[in-house]
Amino acid sequence: MQEHAESAPPPPEDSLDLLQAATAARARAYAPYSRFFVGAAIRSESGTIYAAANVENAAYPVGTCAEAGAIAAMIAGGDRRIVEILVCGPGPALVTPCGACRQRIREFASAGTPIHAADPDGIQASFTLGELLPMAFGPDTLERGPP
Ligand SMILES: [Zn+2]
Repeated sequence: MQEHAESAPPPPEDSLDLLQAATAARARAYAPYSRFFVGAAIRSESGTIYAAANVENAAYPVGTCAEAGAIAAMIAGGDRRIVEILVCGPGPALVTPCGACRQRIREFASAGTPIHAADPDGIQASFTLGELLPMAFGPDTLERGPP
């Protein structure tokens, strides 16, 4: 089955709780090297919000993105599906999930899942996962099995 971007994301005013959670997490980010502080918040299928910040490391490649931390928190919290996710960066440049995180999100979300890009002034843009990661490789790809 081919995946398509589904309906447009919900209006940003419905996602202010995610913005609040991501902003709070961002304030606690550990980014002493880049000073590029990022927070992410997930609304899971149960309604629980999971938030995390980026965590850098003196061995640079070992650092982790805020989205990865939020996904780990969601899994540890017993949830398995992302209903909506928001990433908050410093602005003014739009901060969307990096390529690796788009794939991480895909594992627990569908093409229509809303992804919001925010900065301290609020939500600046909203996308669907299908828009940010078209023709995605995902769990359903493996379910099809070998030819
Ligand atoms: Zn990332």
